[in-house]
Order: sequence, then structure tokens, then C-alpha cells
Amino acid sequence: MRLILLGAPGVGKGTQATLISKALSIPHVSTGDMFRYHISNNTDLGMKAKQYIEKGMLVPDEITVGMVADRLKQEDCQNGFVLDGFPRTIQQAIFLDKILKDLNIQLDMVINITLDDRNIISRLSGRRICPRCNAVYHIEDKPPKNDGVCDNCNAKLIQREDDKEETIIRRLQVYHSQSEPILEYYKNKVKIVNIESHKLIEVTTKRVFDALGVDYKMLNIC
Ligand code: ADP
Ligand code: ZN
Repeated sequence: MRLILLGAPGVGKGTQATLISKALSIPHVSTGDMFRYHISNNTDLGMKAKQYIEKGMLVPDEITVGMVADRLKQEDCQNGFVLDGFPRTIQQAIFLDKILKDLNIQLDMVINITLDDRNIISRLSGRRICPRCNAVYHIEDKPPKNDGVCDNCNAKLIQREDDKEETIIRRLQVYHSQSEPILEYYKNKVKIVNIESHKLIEVTTKRVFDALGVDYKMLNIC
């Protein structure tokens, strides 16, 4: 299965992509996670990307598209993948078409997760993440068992620099102007399923797996 998850920042793409990845045994390819990995390892790519990410801007294509192309060419992506955070512009969607054509593969589905801006702002400003295992929490909706500490690996949770309110507003503007038009691009090319994000993660997950035709309760992953 070759899938793209679309949707504004904060709709829960990353959370759903992680579950899909486990359920279908396909890699979760998240450009945001890749950038954060580079940043925490102080690579050249990370240093370049950081300046943009902290301002809520998109990382330029010269940096982003090569990174994605390299990833999709790796062995573990040959039987499928779930792309999260890419493409984010029509330019990137066109570029992805070229990569897939070179690899002689086609997309199976685009899942578009929706949520209104007001809810997005409250979700993102309360979001905390684990810098070690990428687990995602929310101070009200999904608090960790022990305050400020990851349930999985005990690392101290952090707030992403780009989850500060001003940056969130900037990211939403970027989403509406640059990323939302991608839906139009995929219309009539790939099957698109729209799913409304629910406050309860498992409700959204059920909607996602229904769209995929997979009974997720049988999979024991949640
Ligand atoms: P979110 O979906 O919550 O905004 P991500 O983790 O997907 O978070 O991305 C974080 C940041 O990384 C983005 O705001 C942007 O600066 C950068 N980024 C991620 N993916 C891309 C991409 N495809 N093109 C350009 N920049 C990107
Ligand atoms: Zn952790």
C-alpha cells in the first residue's frame, strides 16, 4: 500500500501514520521527523532546515525533495510506505510523481484529515513530544502517566519550537495557501478519502482503518 496523508499541522497525521505503519508493516516516511532527526544530530541538512522550521516556514525544495527521493528509493519502501508531511506544495507533488514514475510505482490512496483552525491551535499549543522516540502527547487530551515524562522511554518531554502560538498561526497560513491546493492536484488522479479528525484518537483511527478496509481491532496495535 502506497499512501499519502494530507492535512493541516495538528490534525493528527503523525499519530495515524504511525499506527498505519505498524498495522500494514510499511515504513512511516515523515519529513518532519527526518528534519528533526537531522537537527538533533547537527547535520548540515539539519542546520539548514532549522532556520526555516523555527519560523514556521517550509524548508526549500532543494533540501527537501532530495531527502525524500533518497528515502523512497531504499529497500524497505519498495512494498509500500505511508508519507506524512510530503508533498506540502504542488511543486512537491509534481516532483513526487517523477520519483514514483522512475521507480515504476503508483499511489494507492490519499487520506486527507480535516479539522478547523480553532481546534488545531488548541491542539498544537498543548502538544508535547518525546525527543527520543517521537511519541506525541497533549497536556489535556492525552497526558503522559507521569507529568512531563514519556510513557515509553522515560525521556523528558519537550514542546516543539514551532508549536509556540505565533509560529502555529504562520504554519496554518502556509498550509492554507500552499498545501491545501494539493487536494485539487490529486483529484481525478488518485483515490482521495476525507476524514474528519476527532478529539478521541481511536475514533479517528477507526475512520482511517475503515477507509483502508482493515479491521484495526484485530491488529492489537492501539
Ligand atoms: P506539522 O505537520 O505538525 O507542521 P511536521 O513535523 O510535518 O509538522 O513538519 C514540521 C516542519 O518541518 C514544517 O513546519 C516545515 O517547516 C518542515 N517541513 C516538513 N515537511 C516539509 C516539506 N515537505 N516541505 C517543506 N518543509 C517541510
Ligand atoms: Zn519516548
